[in-house]
Amino acid sequence: MKRIVWLLVALAVCVGCSKLTGPPPMPVYLIAVDTLRVDALGCYGGKRPTPALDRFAQQAVVFEHCLAPSSWTVPSMASLMTGLYPFHHGTTKALQEYGRVLSQQTLNNGYTTLAEAMKDAGYRTYGISANGHLAEKYGFAQGFDEYVVHEFAPRQAVAGSWAGLLPRLTGEQRFGQAVFTFLFFFDPHHPYMPQQPYIDEYDPDWRKQLEVLPSHDLGNLQRDGFFKKHKAVVPHLRAAYDSEVAALDAYFSELLPALPGYHDALVIITADHGESFDEHGAMVHGNNLYEPETHIPLLIKLPQGRLAGTRIAAPVSLVDVMPTILAAVKAPKRPKSDGISLLPLMVGQAGERAVYAHIDLPWARWRAMLRWPFKTVLVDEKTVQLFDLSQDPAENKDLAATHPQAKAWADQLRAAAKNEVRFPPRVISGEIPDHLKKKLRELGYVQ
Ligand SMILES: [Zn+2]
Repeated sequence: MKRIVWLLVALAVCVGCSKLTGPPPMPVYLIAVDTLRVDALGCYGGKRPTPALDRFAQQAVVFEHCLAPSSWTVPSMASLMTGLYPFHHGTTKALQEYGRVLSQQTLNNGYTTLAEAMKDAGYRTYGISANGHLAEKYGFAQGFDEYVVHEFAPRQAVAGSWAGLLPRLTGEQRFGQAVFTFLFFFDPHHPYMPQQPYIDEYDPDWRKQLEVLPSHDLGNLQRDGFFKKHKAVVPHLRAAYDSEVAALDAYFSELLPALPGYHDALVIITADHGESFDEHGAMVHGNNLYEPETHIPLLIKLPQGRLAGTRIAAPVSLVDVMPTILAAVKAPKRPKSDGISLLPLMVGQAGERAVYAHIDLPWARWRAMLRWPFKTVLVDEKTVQLFDLSQDPAENKDLAATHPQAKAWADQLRAAAKNEVRFPPRVISGEIPDHLKKKLRELGYVQ
């Protein structure tokens, strides 16, 4: 009996040994920030520094032209999680009232998500999100062993859940378990909560200037035309937004170096979409597919900082993130994707390529295609616009009537960005208040 016990102990030690001495599996961290436009970051030419993310960018490959698949959370994040464009996964609509989701299409479980593919590749999968649109009931927890959602919460909520997860994650990695972690931060999303000490530095007069706002619901204020009459408040709102980015960046200065196995990890930082500050007459997001709402950061740190500092000009998309991660971990199953692995691009193997964006809301039915440096925009399914972003990054000079390729590119956009949804979304409705039922009917959400 004694001998059997010792045999079992020796076996256990041996198993532990082999795991401890073999090469540890690469940890993978996918971090997304809601509403983060590129020029909020120093490493993308922003005028206000973001030291933690700028330092991270020096250790990473920087993608200069990442087009968000849409200009608001649900379709973009469904694209990140499936590797499919919104016109292929079909999860493009929701109805929210200030701070809560009333109704939303749900990502069909017929699709293989990134987390599911990572599980198939032997990873433990963890997700922490601070956006209620990404709740389990809307299909965003598919494939996660553990998934926590804080409904529209600041970084402290994510930080709390992260602190709870950290000891287990560290332990699992120590014993050779491969771990994939997804973190989603909500901080720069409106309402902007001015953050100290940054706001006093950026805009000393901010309290007085923001007094003009009758409410914090900037989406409603925009729909009511408030900003047409009060344009002077826009730079002060931008300062408040930037202060939120700066405070999140300060948290990242602690979070990033403390990610277990950071040096040997694949770490990806990106956003779901950007934000308008009166460009093209728009505020917040979910209005259009112009650059302020669709040009997002994409930073990929490879293990041991390989290729650090490389900057890639070719157009890329969030649909590329899933194929990139699955290629990096040599996943056995790689579902069909609209995206490509970006690993070849990082070592200079670039081909001619177009990436796409789509928004399908009652007030905005747009499609866009980026073939760097030309961006074709199809406004409300009919009006074609064409911009040369290398000469005209603000998209003020429409070349659709004069550029010889304009029609061919518009035809390409129409043909490639057709709605072809394999597994249609379901719709989950909560209790909808009476005052919104009429609006819902008008918007075509219900009969
Ligand atoms: Zn968002």
